[in-house]
Amino acid sequence: MKITGIELIRYSRGIRVHAGEVDWLWVRIHTDEGLTGLGETYPCADAEAGAISRELAPLLLGRDPLCIDRLWADMFLAVNYHGWAGAELRAISAIDIALWDIAGKAAGRPIYQLLGGASRDAIPVYNTCYDHIDFLAEPVRLAEELAAMGIHAMKIWPFDPVAKETGGQSIHHGQMERGLLPLKLIHGAFGPSMQVAMEFHGYWNLPCAKKIAQACEPYEPMWLEEMLPQDNLAAYSELARSTRLPLTISERLMTRWGFRELLENRAASTIMPDICWCGGISEAKKIAAMAETYYLPIAPHNCGGPVLHAASAHLAANLTNLSILETVRRHYLDEYRGLLTRDLIPEQGWLGLPPGPGLGVELREEVLTRPNVHTTRIS
Ligand SMILES: [Mg+2]
Repeated sequence: MKITGIELIRYSRGIRVHAGEVDWLWVRIHTDEGLTGLGETYPCADAEAGAISRELAPLLLGRDPLCIDRLWADMFLAVNYHGWAGAELRAISAIDIALWDIAGKAAGRPIYQLLGGASRDAIPVYNTCYDHIDFLAEPVRLAEELAAMGIHAMKIWPFDPVAKETGGQSIHHGQMERGLLPLKLIHGAFGPSMQVAMEFHGYWNLPCAKKIAQACEPYEPMWLEEMLPQDNLAAYSELARSTRLPLTISERLMTRWGFRELLENRAASTIMPDICWCGGISEAKKIAAMAETYYLPIAPHNCGGPVLHAASAHLAANLTNLSILETVRRHYLDEYRGLLTRDLIPEQGWLGLPPGPGLGVELREEVLTRPNVHTTRIS
């Protein structure tokens, strides 16, 4: 089998998240045997598409798509010279997902079976609360709705507005109380039956992060996520030693080399690779195996588009050291609807094993004709 063409499909969502627009880039790899593979990355579709068309496509065309490890190593070498930790690795991630989709289709099996088979009957999920209910305004009502859906773990980021006020450089008592309030209220209403993960998006300095972590301790959050930026993991390790609460960081780390330091310095209790960023399914599987040697669980970051959601389900089905999979109900109940040939929706807090062959999902062809979708083809 040979790769004959690569389609780059930019999907503009018109949604700003944090600093900028978050668009999805879908990649469809075509082969001379008629099999196609679907991949995805985000958020800067133009940059990632540029890396594919300029750097990756020339070395992929004409090659056997089933030689996934060889192609990954060749792509990584091609972008290594000028620094790879950005659009280049996100582009490789999208290609890698598409190659696994082809491999699954060629074998007639779901991807998780190629990874080593199912390690569970269903995948436990938590909900990240980009939601129609504002967790700042109505945290308990939001938690009640999730509990009614059978979801007993949720992620919120109530300290972000405070970080915007102070640049993350200071926090006074009133601001601390304001940031804690949603966690306090949910903990008061539900106790341990609703786990609350606290997300900080890397906005804080180390002294503030230590203070906030200490203030969170009585309310037993599920974890504290990305309190500091990820660029000095030794500082994160110091933070970890200052609190008894579990920390996580790493959705933005890339490759097995990027995760090595995090694992070695024991800064995080949960490891959180994003398949669309870390280097694809291949790299996420390797990172998970490395984490297993440190007895650490994986909670895949799954906050992108519908193809990431499907790919994450396959990885989560397989990993022996999975703890829980991120999901966003606003995505799977709303924004993903109508984009793929199949919806993957959790029920009672569990996502069923994803179908195959390959990813088990395709883009609906009518999506390609929408005005917010722009397709180019390289062959
Ligand atoms: Mg996060």
